[in-house]
Amino acid sequence: MTYKRVLLKISGEALAEVDDAGHPQTLSNRMLHKIAADIHTATQLGVQVCVVIGGGNIFRGDKGSQVLGIDRSTCDYMGMLATVINALALQNAIEQNGMACRVMTAIPMKAIGEDYVRRRAVSHMEKGRVVIFAAGSGNPFFTTDTAAALRALEMECELLLKATKVDGVYNKDPVKHKDAQHYAKLTYSDILNDRLSVMDATAVALLREHKLPLAVFSIFEANGFANVLAGKGQHTLISEV
Ligand code: UDP
Repeated sequence: MTYKRVLLKISGEALAEVDDAGHPQTLSNRMLHKIAADIHTATQLGVQVCVVIGGGNIFRGDKGSQVLGIDRSTCDYMGMLATVINALALQNAIEQNGMACRVMTAIPMKAIGEDYVRRRAVSHMEKGRVVIFAAGSGNPFFTTDTAAALRALEMECELLLKATKVDGVYNKDPVKHKDAQHYAKLTYSDILNDRLSVMDATAVALLREHKLPLAVFSIFEANGFANVLAGKGQHTLISEV
């Protein structure tokens, strides 16, 4: 299968790292450049790439609200702003890796990114630019997983790829359980019925309804993104059949 256009979902945590001295870093230069290089390799296959970036390395609305006692909507807007910080960092890394890149924000912030306009996003990709969608869906009570499903459908992507810390979906946490079983293929109904934690239920329901396939792969694998597009490497492919 050769893909024309795909969307890559990267969680905020993927941009964080514990440095050599053992100190947690909110943003890791190494991870930003690793992801940018992976995107570069994928674009060299002739695929148009757009990205939805999370904000969990900086702020999450649900946890923030519990800890700070600030109302949930306000905390969710704070979380959306966190995704903009990550988007700017990734844009810079992508540009340093020799690609043109535009940040489009769901919440207008004209000084630092373009307003999200569907047709303009498509036009950027057709010109070979990578587009990063920031500020999630622009609405509180959603996640960037749901924003990724939404944007992938709007962009008429043929595949949504979710980069995680493990190389696909398992029946139990493979970090804690050595006997965890890896799934090469699953259906969306499997995910919902077996409560496998892949994406939140709203995102999964949206993908299932519109029959958009999802690939789950490891952010740490060298060229993991391009490998999925080439049908290589270990990952999980989820579709409705
Ligand atoms: N968020 C939101 N609406 C959206 C997307 C994100 O309110 O459409 C907020 C929400 O508070 C969330 C935070 O932004 O906790 C960061 O996004 P997310 O937790 O999805 O990031 P990730 O887990 O992918 O790093």
